[in-house]
Amino acid sequence: MMDAEKKLDGSRIAADIRDEVAAEVAQLRAAGVAPRLDVVLAGDDPASEVYVASKAKTCAQLGMESITHELPGTVGQDELTSLVDRLNDDPGVDGILVQLPLPNGLDSHAVLDRIDPAKDVDGFHPTNVGLLQQGRPNLVPCTPAGVMEMLRRENIEVKGRRAVIVGRSDIVGKPMAMMLLHAHATVTLCHSRTRDLAAVTRDAEILVAAVGQLALIGEDHVSEGVVVVDVGMHRVTDRETVERLYGSNPKKLAAYDKRGAVLSGDVDFEKVAPKASRITPVPGGVGPLTIAMLMANTVRAARLRRGI
Ligand code: NAP
Repeated sequence: MMDAEKKLDGSRIAADIRDEVAAEVAQLRAAGVAPRLDVVLAGDDPASEVYVASKAKTCAQLGMESITHELPGTVGQDELTSLVDRLNDDPGVDGILVQLPLPNGLDSHAVLDRIDPAKDVDGFHPTNVGLLQQGRPNLVPCTPAGVMEMLRRENIEVKGRRAVIVGRSDIVGKPMAMMLLHAHATVTLCHSRTRDLAAVTRDAEILVAAVGQLALIGEDHVSEGVVVVDVGMHRVTDRETVERLYGSNPKKLAAYDKRGAVLSGDVDFEKVAPKASRITPVPGGVGPLTIAMLMANTVRAARLRRGI
């Protein structure tokens, strides 16, 4: 169990961001601009279908337009590319998001490279990656942007502090490192070849876990007072693991008994939270911020493209 003040409440912060985006959308609409997000969903990956549905729902809640382009898993590279070309050329489209992973055989780099950087609301286009690296951010990846927004809104000092990120993916770890670096943290980026990971992470004043390994970060990986941000997202479906992770948390066990699964992160929350000064829960931490930042990026793209 932990003090409520420790919790970095991503759900609450995401709600604030959504309210601000909705207000901006209302202003734009009053000026005759209806921000629109187009999502490309190829294949029938169930997790992708859930994410895409939730993006469309959030657009609707904030007064934005959204269109989902569903393509069969057998879609060819050329067909996908020509859809992206059409969306690039359509002046009504502000944001284009190609849901990953793409079905086997499709080259995701080739598709993402094709998106007009001005409509690249995921921030994955090489132009946007380069601009971020140079400290001239245009559209930036939503998950690390959400983490930065949370740190800023919670008045967590970044400047001069030692930030350690575990995970070097293009969508989370690397852009996270760049954003923390530009915010003047001293950044260390860890990965699967890092020797003695716990010794490196114990040095962190801010620790971001984006590893994709359930509860990899345990109490030996952290020092007293660390700020912990858990990007990981895992659906835990066996009771033994739930008991191991949450033995002391009757609420989680009850949630498991009700639904047959609980969501958990890359951090062993129950063991790490007592040492942390602030920590994100899973769920209700980084997850909701990602979609909120996607909405913010779409409105930003709508403004930038029109010079508003
Ligand atoms: P990814 O592409 O699989 O990258 C994982 C990274 O972790 C890699 O850099 C890998 O190192 C490193 N790694 C793996 N095992 C390690 C170990 N034992 N020790 C140290 N480093 C290790 O994952 P991702 O896409 O960044 O996602 C990470 C997690 O965040 C996943 O759980 C994902 O579901 C979640 N996620 C959540 C959101 C959200 O909105 N909340 C958004 C995106 C992702 P190598 O590079 O050496 O292989």
